[in-house]
Amino acid sequence: SFQKSKGQHILKNPLLVDSIVQKAGIKSTDVILEIGPGTGNLTKKLLEAGKQVIAVELDPRMVLELQRRFQGTPFSNRLKVIQGDVLKTELPRFDICVANIPYQISSPLTFKLLFHPTSFRCAVIMYQREFAMRLVAQPGDNLYCRLSVNTQLYARVSHLLKVGKNNFRPPPKVDSSVVRIEPRRPGPQVNKKEWDGFLRVCFIRKNKTLGSIFKQKPVLLMLEKNFKTLQALLASLQNNNNGQAASIDLGGDHQGMAIEDDYNEVDDDDMDMDDGGEVDGDGGEKSEFKEKVINVLKEGAFEEKRASKLSQQEFLYLLSLFNKYGIHFT
Ligand code: SAM
Repeated sequence: SFQKSKGQHILKNPLLVDSIVQKAGIKSTDVILEIGPGTGNLTKKLLEAGKQVIAVELDPRMVLELQRRFQGTPFSNRLKVIQGDVLKTELPRFDICVANIPYQISSPLTFKLLFHPTSFRCAVIMYQREFAMRLVAQPGDNLYCRLSVNTQLYARVSHLLKVGKNNFRPPPKVDSSVVRIEPRRPGPQVNKKEWDGFLRVCFIRKNKTLGSIFKQKPVLLMLEKNFKTLQALLASLQNNNNGQAASIDLGGDHQGMAIEDDYNEVDDDDMDMDDGGEVDGDGGEKSEFKEKVINVLKEGAFEEKRASKLSQQEFLYLLSLFNKYGIHFT
């Protein structure tokens, strides 16, 4: 009766469940958020370790089974079950999140947690192995990608435990890993959309030099459009010092995707060394704006560098250089 579409792979190895709970470092005063409790194997150990468990479960049959399991036990008044899709549910305040999640919601859920308005100590989450390795990857690692850089800006991420497929029933197709995510406090001082737009450009091809990526016409057009919008806004603010708001839309339409929605892309360029040529028409025409962009790269010595090898500090520095010259990604 398990439905593949809901990612229902139940943890059946009690030693593994113990090990996850132990590594999570739960305190007896903790309010624990669990996502996708299923039949409650993990839930039970969480109830033993903490003060309260708030569990969000999509499948009404699982909700019933869970309630039946703890009915009439001392646990029942410390368990709160919310039936619904965790991605559409307003999350309560919690101290720690521990979960064996359905893998299809890995990236939106991770960013939902990272952007959760109230602070929590950490999240200990089971992911598909490759996704977990992307989360923790460092510059130069094969799996280092936009997801790695983005997550690590908002959190310290560490790999806790490798988990083979046979710990689940039914076994999934892939191996898993438990990862610990600890939000950075205070959070980073960057504009979320600006940072996201910037990384999208740098990682268009992660093994291409930034010099060749930033010479691509679509990239230059987008940046120049943003640049002109900002210049026009600044000019109109100057002419408008009697307090009237300028009626210019700075929001733009160029970065349609939400930050958390689309990490399912496959990096097809792991083997792709720089091919040198600019595919998208660097027709040799002179453009003042293009010069401006290239000079920013030159100023920070980024022209020959590649996203696949840049550290978070280097990305932050490059973005600050662009912004210093009025170049924005949103
Ligand atoms: N935690 C249990 C365990 O370890 O044995 C079950 C884990 S199973 C991988 C994932 C659970 O998440 C299933 O019970 C499934 O019904 C539930 N689920 C799937 N999509 C969900 C969603 N969007 N929101 C909340 N729960 C969801």
